[in-house]
Amino acid sequence: MVRKNAVQKPVVRTRAQSSSAFETAQAVLAGGVSSPVRAFQAVGGTPLFIAKAKGAVITDLDGNAYIDYVGAWGPLILGHAEERAQAAASKVLDKGWSFGAPTEQETRLAVRIAADVPGIDMVRFVNSGTEATMSAVRLARGFTGRDLIVKCEGCYHGHSDGLLVEAGSGLATFGVPSSAGVPAGLTALTLVVPYNDLDAASQVFAEQGQRIAAFLVEPIAGNMGCVPPAGGYLAGLSRLCNEHGALLIFDEVMSGYRVGLRGAQGLYGIEPDITCLGKIIGGGLPVGAYGARAAVMEQLSPLGPVYQAGTLSGNPLAMAVGLATVEALHEPGVYERLEALSARLSAGLAEAAGAAGLPLFETRVGSMLGVFFQPGPVIDYASAKRSDTHAYARFFHAMLDQGIYLPPSQFETLFVSLAHTEEQIDQTIAAAAKAFAAIAA
Ligand SMILES: *Cc1c(COP(=O)(O)O)cnc(C)c1O
Repeated sequence: MVRKNAVQKPVVRTRAQSSSAFETAQAVLAGGVSSPVRAFQAVGGTPLFIAKAKGAVITDLDGNAYIDYVGAWGPLILGHAEERAQAAASKVLDKGWSFGAPTEQETRLAVRIAADVPGIDMVRFVNSGTEATMSAVRLARGFTGRDLIVKCEGCYHGHSDGLLVEAGSGLATFGVPSSAGVPAGLTALTLVVPYNDLDAASQVFAEQGQRIAAFLVEPIAGNMGCVPPAGGYLAGLSRLCNEHGALLIFDEVMSGYRVGLRGAQGLYGIEPDITCLGKIIGGGLPVGAYGARAAVMEQLSPLGPVYQAGTLSGNPLAMAVGLATVEALHEPGVYERLEALSARLSAGLAEAAGAAGLPLFETRVGSMLGVFFQPGPVIDYASAKRSDTHAYARFFHAMLDQGIYLPPSQFETLFVSLAHTEEQIDQTIAAAAKAFAAIAA
């Protein structure tokens, strides 16, 4: 029976082609993906296969369009296939895209970064955030002649062995591997403390200060959901590192250029000894970078004894797209626009959750948002883990069915881009209101 006046379901029809593509992928890619979180295991269901994207909208193989708050996990602050980034890429493609020799593109991007980021005078480009933090740790060890690293529980710094660590049991803070295949002997050099806990940091320095090369931290945690630093926390870490001759490493792979041109260090006025970057500085191409003052960077080969290299590092295509992205962020009003859009989204979600009687704890720094299904407060990994992940999964799917693409895990950050419009934000809020009401019922 055909019901002529049946209400049209919005946007999303079938996902048959994504499902079929996922079947095919699973035979030849472990888990059907190239990075685990993409497999949707945290929310259930099968991942969307993306056919194309433009602005704030991604389109799957079945032709369904979604407003995107993943933004390739952070890099696409300008939106997808942005014209200036595209033009920069095309130019490079005409002239050849990899030489394994110096090009002026890398110097140009380095000049920009050194001018923008307070803690960086010199920079070394690598190919991912993982490489940036791994290499920064080596540099800190080489510079200080010490072996121990301190990191925070729930902060993610990529997948290198020594950083895939979780807190051991009891008072001992020596890390234990959080992945099979990581030798305990490697993680024994990594100490783990709770995020936002200055007392725990003080204690670890009191006990091991002479042996600590560096304290590595996300100045705005973004990989347990978005968890901002408590007042005085970063300043306290900086003071502790100074007192004990250790280096403070800010992992700004996510927050760099996301919360402002000077990153979290500019926002909070704390200058780290080494800064790690990635994501936005490649504009969606594979890039990472680490930088510091010259005296630290001069420890790097070929100037100094710390070895680190890369066949594709400083790749012209990635440098050009990264530079176009960073330059676009220098236009006046850019961060104000991101702030306004993000505040609108955040306020709308809070109001919708309130109306539904759903306990929701929201966090936000600029265009990074955390939406925790719990009353809060969320200040560290232990409190983040109290979230109702089943409720998040329901939210995720209810939003997906209404044409909104959120990160497929409670413990990821939502990103607003410059391509989002007020209308799209409002559409998202309206969809969330329906989703919250269904969850609260
Ligand atoms: C994404 C991320 C990384 C890892 O970067 P990859 O490019 O995925 O290797 C490291 N640190 C932080 C804070 C990140 O958000």
